[in-house]
Amino acid sequence: AKSTGHNLYFVYESHMADNIDAHLTLGGGLRKAIDEEQFVLHYQPKVRLCDEEVVGAEALIRWVHPELGMISPDQFIPLAEESGLILPLGEWVIRRACRQLKEWRESGVAPLKLSVNLSSRQFMQADLVDMVERVMQETGVDPEYFELELTESMLMTDAQQSIDKLHGFRKLGLTLSIDDFGTGYSSLAYLKKFPIQTLKIDRSFINDLGLDSDNDAIVKATIAMAKSLNLKVIAEGVETRTQFDLLSGYGCQEVQGYLFSKPLCGEEFLRYVNSQNVV
Ligand code: C2E
Ligand code: CA
Ligand code: CA
Ligand code: CA
Repeated sequence: AKSTGHNLYFVYESHMADNIDAHLTLGGGLRKAIDEEQFVLHYQPKVRLCDEEVVGAEALIRWVHPELGMISPDQFIPLAEESGLILPLGEWVIRRACRQLKEWRESGVAPLKLSVNLSSRQFMQADLVDMVERVMQETGVDPEYFELELTESMLMTDAQQSIDKLHGFRKLGLTLSIDDFGTGYSSLAYLKKFPIQTLKIDRSFINDLGLDSDNDAIVKATIAMAKSLNLKVIAEGVETRTQFDLLSGYGCQEVQGYLFSKPLCGEEFLRYVNSQNVV
């Protein structure tokens, strides 16, 4: 351990070299990757609790790296944020998702709602609403079936500006969801100042369901309060029947997680929907 001069120690471990190398390699390749469209979207089904029908999906990006293979978003989204490349990348995600939504519509499957994640830097982009409007017009999607997932911290950075932006999105007709709910510091009552329609309870709360009575009480109360505020509630990271049954008892409307399916490529997703939903 080497002293940095403060009360901090920089502990050098051998695996860090790999991380730093990976960081540089990935960061350097990102621009090229965007130009060459080395990305794919995977789709994780969202399942309605009452009848277990697939009613939608979340689009999750993966980088198909020519040498390193499939790279998860946690490894490159932060790099894209730092470098500002999240702006062109984020636009690619929205365009790809809109095209996918259009394809599903034309393939004759029952209407499915598709959500995409926004990152904080992307959310701060001045012409974001215009960009989304332009892409939706270009691709001709029905805005009712398009949803954006935003985090509490993103909205709290500049609350008034966020509210204006969210109203801009609402005018376009799409729906807005709060992702990772419960991990930030905002209360539901405060969040109601924002024109949002859906609340997604963070995986960390779902993970502990049935194991910790305080945690269960929080989830139950959150669902009850969200419903009384007319918000739809979805739980992420649902892995077991026990979690599913508890959520069902609490009145949660939708679930997403490995219990039903991991994120799937476009083709696999359609096959999954057709095998699950009774036509
Ligand atoms: P997130 O928005 O919270 O997405 C949920 C993550 O949980 C996904 O990881 C998903 O594969 C994983 N997951 C789903 N079900 C389960 C489960 O039952 N158990 C467990 N343990 N995990 C589950 P993924 O795809 O690696 O994405 C990680 C994060 O990367 C996302 O977290 C999101 O913040 C970010 N991300 C993904 N795609 C995009 C994108 O297109 N744009 C931006 N800005 N961020 C993205
Ligand atoms: Ca999300
Ligand atoms: Ca989430
Ligand atoms: Ca989460």
